[in-house]
Amino acid sequence: MTQSQQIIDLKGMTLDELEAFAQRLGEPRYRGRQIAHWLYQRGATSFAEMTDLPAALRARLTTDAVFTSLSSVTALAADGGDTMKYLLRLADGATIETVFMRYQDGRRSVCISTQVGCGMGCTFCATGLAGLTRNLSAAEIIDQVLLVHRTTGERVTNVVFMGMGEPLANYEATLRAIRLLSAPYGLGIGMRHLTVSTVGLVPQIRALASERLQLTLAVSLHAPTDDLRSQLVPVNRKWPVAELLDASGEYVRQTGRRISFEYVLMKGVNDTPELAAILGELLRARAGGMVADDAPPAGIPVGESHGELPQGGRSGYAFHVNLIPWNPVYGLQYQRPDRERVAAFVQGLRERGIPTTVRLERGVDIDAACGQLQRTHGATAPGNPNPGLAGSGRSAETRERGSATGKGTANTIAKHSG
Ligand code: SAH
Ligand code: SF4
Repeated sequence: MTQSQQIIDLKGMTLDELEAFAQRLGEPRYRGRQIAHWLYQRGATSFAEMTDLPAALRARLTTDAVFTSLSSVTALAADGGDTMKYLLRLADGATIETVFMRYQDGRRSVCISTQVGCGMGCTFCATGLAGLTRNLSAAEIIDQVLLVHRTTGERVTNVVFMGMGEPLANYEATLRAIRLLSAPYGLGIGMRHLTVSTVGLVPQIRALASERLQLTLAVSLHAPTDDLRSQLVPVNRKWPVAELLDASGEYVRQTGRRISFEYVLMKGVNDTPELAAILGELLRARAGGMVADDAPPAGIPVGESHGELPQGGRSGYAFHVNLIPWNPVYGLQYQRPDRERVAAFVQGLRERGIPTTVRLERGVDIDAACGQLQRTHGATAPGNPNPGLAGSGRSAETRERGSATGKGTANTIAKHSG
């Protein structure tokens, strides 16, 4: 396949588009549905597998069309295989990360990337350090989920857009991916089981709100004041905290869905009791502007959450705060706060009635330790012969530090992936 201008990538197409494509080939429209079934539900990796298509059509597709099918360069396991972290190679040689997590309650969650690198420059994030290489296509976004299915054989129940990149900076492809992930003819994952995390691109949050989709929005807040947030999250200079909260309120009002405010805690930077108080007051003052149909209960216990909000209950609050102790990133000077400081921050929010969760440190949770694996890919690690697979010797300390948003936990295991 070298005549790329003639070659069409079928993955990433909607059912309508596939049906129209079939018709252009002089085939009945229902061939489009058959192709969708093979691409999105059966996870086919070649046209030859599409056995209910006529042989002549399969031959023609083989010459005239392609579909994205990512390959895994490295797969690292933790916690007996309940967490798998993949480094995937794209057609142009770029690499991205995807993380699969298996939970006791039956959830099978995949954390996916939307860009190669990221241009947002958050000062604490491994992905941000590298800058943006390019956007992923919708096919590359959804194939991360399909690849997990291909390699584990397990049905994915939840998808979080918390890997590399800023989903809303790649708006069109992200929206298309959301539709394909949730469509009954697509991967069939309920919209309520999808979570998109954004650094806070206000116009795109408003655009997404107007789509009125039932997905969960996670907003990366990280600081309650503009001074501090601008230091940590450069886009705050363009869309300050008040505007971000306005847009978040609009999202809640338009969709009836709750928002999760993500807050990465860095010791001595944004984890002080004073800031907990400011954040608590700020959100409390905003609560009236954020009213959803299915607000979460107040005082959600500390527990695991990966952008998927705890279910049930009504407290009047249409949001909650999810605290994420910062995960070390090689080359960055921030520190992870100790448990006492985290607990004090939780307390400061709860005293003000703000539903708060903490992303627990669990060995299995190298969730979205994105950026770090790729950053260190190929690097040698003197004195670190651990192959990094299947719990095979990640140190207790590493396990201890592993956490659900990862974003750095792979620095110990990644060095073997070259
Ligand atoms: N770009 C989007 C989604 C990807 S980042 C966003 O920023 O929201 C997903 C989450 O991981 C964000 O909340 C981000 O702040 C967080 N994160 C980034 N680096 C981290 C680190 N080193 N430790 C813990 N969380 C981190
Ligand atoms: Fe990009 Fe999100 Fe990392 Fe910020 S935290 S640099 S937006 S991936």
